[in-house]
Amino acid sequence: MLEVDSVSVVIDGQTILDRVGLIVEDGEVVAVLGPSGAGKSTLLRVVAGLLSPDQGTIRWDGSDLSSVLPHRRKFGLMFQDYALFPHLDVGGNVMFGLRMAGASGVDAASRVKEVLDWVGLSGFERRSVTSLSGGEQQRVALARSLAPSPRLLMLDEPLGSLDRGLAERLVLDLRHLLRRKGVTALYVTHDQEEAFTVADRLAVIRAGRVVRVGRPEEVWEKPGSAWVARFLGFANLAESSITDGVASTPWGKVAVPKRAAGQVVMLRADRLLLRPEGTIAGTVTERLFRGSQAVLQIAVDGAPSLQVEVAAHDSPHPSDPVRVAVPDGAVSVLPADDELA
Ligand code: ADP
Ligand code: MG
Repeated sequence: MLEVDSVSVVIDGQTILDRVGLIVEDGEVVAVLGPSGAGKSTLLRVVAGLLSPDQGTIRWDGSDLSSVLPHRRKFGLMFQDYALFPHLDVGGNVMFGLRMAGASGVDAASRVKEVLDWVGLSGFERRSVTSLSGGEQQRVALARSLAPSPRLLMLDEPLGSLDRGLAERLVLDLRHLLRRKGVTALYVTHDQEEAFTVADRLAVIRAGRVVRVGRPEEVWEKPGSAWVARFLGFANLAESSITDGVASTPWGKVAVPKRAAGQVVMLRADRLLLRPEGTIAGTVTERLFRGSQAVLQIAVDGAPSLQVEVAAHDSPHPSDPVRVAVPDGAVSVLPADDELA
């Protein structure tokens, strides 16, 4: 089990990580999710031992790793750019990881074969890495980092340089492989869909602070703050005054739980409904086709435009008048953003 306990990193007077706490249980995949510059790669470097924290402790199964050198931590690291060696073939690249970990001979050769099989590249040993597609290179890098059986695998935006369609397919392969082999992993990404797909739990990081931890479903259901909600792609957030279980939003009054705390009301685009009896009247201004769904932008008099997701097949079109109903489950109340740089 990995424990990151109140770790801070300060570089040139700037706090890059601010008392970060995180646990990765054995066999668990935890995604660190946050925008560019949030401190994700810095966190991996601290866990890997490439950077010493200014405060806090990294532990494995309870023991402090501060005096353990990076190559003795038995952690694997895979970068976005894969860092494959162009002068070595596929087998040579995977073997390199094993040699670094002290393996040699027949065992090492059969391990190379085994991990190439895991990633669907059986028989690729003698291929030049420069002749491979981006997706194949990604899998060689994965095989190389898995070959020495690291007790923790860290992946830094491992699909970041691939095109979206390929990344979507590979993330599923990756999830199945990590699960099947029971790999304990810390997975860094800025892409929430990737994080939702691959991770058992997420840690959302903002400006060096972990601001939300939970299973993907929990974080989606309760983002916990307006910032996390916006980062996850939710629309329709507005500061609203709340009295006696009624929030006055720019789109009209909506019922909120009696004990709701917070000042930002969010109407979930995926749970709003187009109904003749809907309380919000508006006009469709934009319709984004997303396959089975359409995302509508609806202009509402005196209020910000409202986003509503509907089934694509019989959705209205731009300039159609619509009425939007707000079922109870569509309303979330969130604390306003805290003061963060
Ligand atoms: P992420 O991986 O989430 O994009 P990073 O961990 O790479 O973020 O960087 C977090 C912040 O720390 C950024 O503002 C970056 O400029 C800064 N930073 C990272 N490493 C250094 C360094 N060696 N010197 C100065 N600033 C750094
Ligand atoms: Mg990074």
